[in-house]
Amino acid sequence: MQMTQALHTTSTLTDPHAGLAQGRAIAVKCRAITKSYGTGDNVVRALRGIDLDIAEGELIMLVGPSGCGKTTLISVIAGVLDRDGGECVVFGQDYEKLNSTERARFRAQNIGFVFQSFNLIPTLSIAENVSVPLLIQGKGRHAALREAEAMLDRVGLGKRVKDLPQKLSGGQQQRVAIARALVHHPRLVVCDEPTSALDAATGEVVMKLLRQVAVESGRALVVVTHDQRIFRYADRIAALDDGHIERIVTDAKDLQH
Ligand code: ADP
Repeated sequence: MQMTQALHTTSTLTDPHAGLAQGRAIAVKCRAITKSYGTGDNVVRALRGIDLDIAEGELIMLVGPSGCGKTTLISVIAGVLDRDGGECVVFGQDYEKLNSTERARFRAQNIGFVFQSFNLIPTLSIAENVSVPLLIQGKGRHAALREAEAMLDRVGLGKRVKDLPQKLSGGQQQRVAIARALVHHPRLVVCDEPTSALDAATGEVVMKLLRQVAVESGRALVVVTHDQRIFRYADRIAALDDGHIERIVTDAKDLQH
């Protein structure tokens, strides 16, 4: 009897739909995704078969020990890294079916990525940095800068728009990276440790903004984090271990079980 229950619980928790709200359109569908780095004796199997669905309007967090494959998975989902096997369909589009130009265009229109290292351009003001995704979409410079400044205001940096990144603290640069990922209203926002450089109060501001983006506009957000303070902003939390999804929960308390 106990065995039956245990098996049932395990299959439910690793079901790609586990905890997913009913009736929502699927934004991201991952099936049996594999990815290795290196060759021969040095091969690292970073993803060993990932099954996961992410709904529109959902904020899902990926957690797990360092090296378990979180960054690799979001990089595959965001189309910046090729998978080795399996299926990854984002808003009905499989990156493998796109050539490099089509893929770049798809990413520019649909994906916002907050990199762990921020990746800001040091010679551009922070408003110019944030305007880049809009310029890539073909928006005029002045309109793009105005929108960038408005987004910087939303992350509390409205008075710093003309500053170069190097004049800002790590936490402020992280908020610039978040503003840049949101400014073009991408349908999928992928964040690698978006609160790692932020104090508790600023982390709250950023998470409230990300949550608002997900709920109000039906966008999907995937957030890699170690920061337990922000778990409550997640609709679901997927715990990875050694390239697998170990469980998917809707309440952080259940991560320990
Ligand atoms: P996490 O984000 O959970 O820390 P990663 O996805 O960064 O995990 O890494 C998963 C595994 O893949 C780790 O063992 C890591 O060392 C390895 N790895 C990641 N990127 C590379 C790379 N470019 N070359 C070789 N190994 C890598």
